[in-house]
Amino acid sequence: MSSGPTAQVHLANVVANWRTLGALNPGSETGAVVKAGGYGHGAAQIAKALCTAGCQTFFTAHASEGVDVRHAVGGSPIIYVLNGPDNADLSHYADAGLRPVINTPAQLDVWRRASLDAPVGLKFDTGMNRLGLRPETVGDIKTASADLKVSHVMSHLACADEPSHPKNAQQLKAFTGIAQHFPDIPASLANSAGCYLGGDYAFDLTRPGIALYGGSHPPASVDLKPGLTLTAPILSVHTGRSGETVGYGATKTLEEDRLLATVAFGYADGLPRSASNSGFGVIGRVRCPIVGRISMDLTTLDVTGAEAFAEPGARVEFIGAAANLEEQADSAATLGYELITGLGPRVERIYE
Ligand SMILES: *Cc1c(COP(=O)(O)O)cnc(C)c1O
Repeated sequence: MSSGPTAQVHLANVVANWRTLGALNPGSETGAVVKAGGYGHGAAQIAKALCTAGCQTFFTAHASEGVDVRHAVGGSPIIYVLNGPDNADLSHYADAGLRPVINTPAQLDVWRRASLDAPVGLKFDTGMNRLGLRPETVGDIKTASADLKVSHVMSHLACADEPSHPKNAQQLKAFTGIAQHFPDIPASLANSAGCYLGGDYAFDLTRPGIALYGGSHPPASVDLKPGLTLTAPILSVHTGRSGETVGYGATKTLEEDRLLATVAFGYADGLPRSASNSGFGVIGRVRCPIVGRISMDLTTLDVTGAEAFAEPGARVEFIGAAANLEEQADSAATLGYELITGLGPRVERIYE
């Protein structure tokens, strides 16, 4: 085993999660979002495993990511580039057979001038105010794209992770109206959380990302497995005495003697500094609190409750079956998304 932090990537779990999501909306195709290096898990490995399992549509954010995915999955799957085309990366579309998602009139111009014959996705903004064509321009866009092959009409939900938020129904209504302008073209709205909102939201193709990797807050009936297990080794174990402080800034004062373990995992590896004095690691099934500030390469835990297991070389789990991704993220006042996409290059990925 490595002497540093490792992420064992559970490809079979990611495949199982993809199937679980597919079973929620059996009438729709289930795609896979593998942007940001497959949410930190390795885009090529994830895409290859999902492709073998039958996934036929992948999404990346950048064209360069799409090229990596193309190498991994071979010729036939569809690969959409969500951020849309730019003159600087048109060659990627041609070389790797990528499909752009058109988000702005300017992107539509870029693509038309490029005279590439790949089909495109048209993404409308139904409430994010982020990226997407304006709904009121749907007529003009339909005319302007008449000589293109449009393979999907898309939009993106702002509040899918809050099922009772009124914005969901508003966006559903707006998107349904847009999709009616393109009656013969498949439609796609739902991200991971959108997959939990019911069949109305699934349309023809869903686009789960975070849930493939074990994140999001699914309903209790949906059992997602961790995409990876993040562990780091203990470097030292010692007793901190009552009255002493731990770490930079002396933010933690020990109220009694405590057994402390320092592990080789810090914010340079992606453990957010905001988990200082609030995050946790698990050793021997015992949840041990992070004490003091997380530093660049090191973090100290109170392992008093796990004395039998705490010894140099033993590995502490920070994300995995015993340390739920979203719970760990919550302890750092962030999201599972940020935690897994932030895992640094020093975290060795091990595929199984
Ligand atoms: C990132 C992204 C997704 C995936 O979202 P998750 O919440 O990770 O499931 C889907 N669609 C678009 C447009 C995205 O940008």
